[in-house]
Amino acid sequence: MTSKEEKKFLTRLKKFSQEIFNATDAAVMEGFEYFQTSEYKKTGAVKSRAKEMFANKGLKGSVRLATHMAKRMPSMLSNIKKNYRDMDDYLYSLENGKAIPHTSEKVVKAFPNKDIWNDLLQYSWIKHKVIVGFTKVSEEYIFKGKAIPFQYALVFAQEMRKESIEKAPELDAGMEVVNVYNSLGIATNDIVAWLKKKYKIMGMANHPLGGLVDFVPLAEKAGLGLIGRHGMVITKEFGPRCRIAPIFIDEKIFQVTDTTEHEWISEFCNKCGNCARSCPVEAIYERPKLVQTSISENTKDRYESYDREKCFVSFSATMGCALCISVCPFSRNPKIYDEMKTKHWKIRKVDNNAN
Ligand code: SF4
Ligand code: SF4
Repeated sequence: MTSKEEKKFLTRLKKFSQEIFNATDAAVMEGFEYFQTSEYKKTGAVKSRAKEMFANKGLKGSVRLATHMAKRMPSMLSNIKKNYRDMDDYLYSLENGKAIPHTSEKVVKAFPNKDIWNDLLQYSWIKHKVIVGFTKVSEEYIFKGKAIPFQYALVFAQEMRKESIEKAPELDAGMEVVNVYNSLGIATNDIVAWLKKKYKIMGMANHPLGGLVDFVPLAEKAGLGLIGRHGMVITKEFGPRCRIAPIFIDEKIFQVTDTTEHEWISEFCNKCGNCARSCPVEAIYERPKLVQTSISENTKDRYESYDREKCFVSFSATMGCALCISVCPFSRNPKIYDEMKTKHWKIRKVDNNAN
């Protein structure tokens, strides 16, 4: 979703090509933006989306949904605007040749800032119930036509309530998706302000609803989890029942949290397939399709796990669908990750011994 503020921000930022990080030639288009293209509209999916929504939810459901959206939308829009408004001083300094706001030298020199990191984890969890990773942003993840001012990112994930997601594809699940888009947008704006005020760390929050960067591979790279067959990041803490958003940071002030510890999940997915079997529109592919070959050592090739046109019709009709999330075994409870990991390695050992 591209807001007026984002467009203005990018126009100003892109004048400083030496200072910023641009999308690569092979960049993919941001999802919500793709749905506004004439190419997508020609498919007739926009009309069928409205029709499906009414057919699915009827008048009562549609009114319930519209009321919920009307309550959350002002907050989401104001938090998206805030992401860009808070960068005004930064852009003004660039435009006028002034010293640009920067993370304090004291913090930069004190890398890896373990005390600040622990304080950040604690603040983020206690105040917003979000988990955190830190990584270098690969330019491959920047969406087509976009750019970012800083090269590192804190990546946050916030849980969607199990009781609501379990009701997917009922409206309760979709409403929870919207709730967490909103609460995570509030959380990242609050955390970036806290970092600036308490530690003089320069950052830019990016709202979970349509960002400058593809948050899914970014969260995987930051070690929050692994992309499952349904295309969502399966985290240890919440499974795929979460939404993701970053704060871009100007310096490498923390140790990166990149890890390979979640790799075993791909083998598990190969045997499971629950999400693909449960998708009402058969949007999840048997084998994910390659969309972008990695151009750096630190990133993986990127795959598309599902047909986004098919999914979006169903997603819009229910305002979140989330059926593939609700049937994913990792969504059950926080202990399931470790239980399944242990079970997986035991089975693997038996298989290896048998061979
Ligand atoms: S959100 Fe719904 S429609 Fe989309 S892939 Fe998941 S189950 Fe299928
Ligand atoms: S439902 Fe099964 S196959 Fe799909 S993402 Fe979850 S674990 Fe993987």
